Amino acid sequence: MAHYPDPLERLVTELKKLPGIGQRTAERLAFFLLNQPEEAVRALSEALVELKTKIRLCAECFNFAEGERCPICLDPKRDRSIICVVSNPQELWKIEKTGGYHGLYHVLGGLLSPVNDVGPEDLRVQELLRRLERGDVKEVILALDPTVEGEHTAMYLARRIRALGRDLKLTRIAQGVPIGRDLETADELTLSRALEGRVTVE
Ligand SMILES: [Zn+2]
Repeated sequence: MAHYPDPLERLVTELKKLPGIGQRTAERLAFFLLNQPEEAVRALSEALVELKTKIRLCAECFNFAEGERCPICLDPKRDRSIICVVSNPQELWKIEKTGGYHGLYHVLGGLLSPVNDVGPEDLRVQELLRRLERGDVKEVILALDPTVEGEHTAMYLARRIRALGRDLKLTRIAQGVPIGRDLETADELTLSRALEGRVTVE
């Protein structure tokens, strides 16, 4: 059996590492790229490299940023009295796309998971508490997955936030997000309803 030339084989191998890309799709993409003009392929490869060299985490909320702070934290029109806590940047962008939220965010960087050995020190919990101690924030919305890990994390954060002893409104997004599905796959309408109908954590 004949083999692909090495560069083609290498590209197929790399493409197969992407989510949802199997052997056939990887081959189709590789042959497609092979037929593109050199500038087009170069633009794609530069975009891939820039993704890792130019993007870093916002010093305030840990969203992706090109500079010290992300566009959301830099935007003077955002309501600085509300912080919405999410587990990762994808979920932040999902909420942004609903267009119904105008406060700030805090990206935890995961969820507490004793099974996978993820403890509070692995997440940006201290950073969140420090932001809340500065005093401009009036409400914290916990927008975490309606899963066991999401619930566990929300309860833990609620306890830590309460312990600050500040007069903060603590809310959770309403259970309009179907149980067992993550926020990432929830549709925008469901998510914006869940945000509007948020409930106070007792
Ligand atoms: Zn930010």
